[in-house]
Amino acid sequence: MTPGIEKAQPSRMCVACRGRSAKAELLRFVRTSAGEVVFDPQARLFGRSAYLCRTLTCVEQARRKRLLERHLRSNVGEGIWQELEGLGE
Ligand SMILES: [Zn+2]
Repeated sequence: MTPGIEKAQPSRMCVACRGRSAKAELLRFVRTSAGEVVFDPQARLFGRSAYLCRTLTCVEQARRKRLLERHLRSNVGEGIWQELEGLGE
């Protein structure tokens, strides 16, 4: 980890491929205080979070293997995936 550049663009790990990307380029999911997992495109929410690449491959893998559930230790509603399908590529 080199200071400076890294600091300006924090990177996070995708829970599907485990690759690191700039935080701004990843899809962010947060477990709210109510224990609900929500998609947080604006990164406004606080709470335990998980990240995914903006690719169908990683999104599909996370959905199939329930990676968000595992990472956030909470249920992920079907609605989240529908929201992601609406994102397009
Ligand atoms: Zn990924």
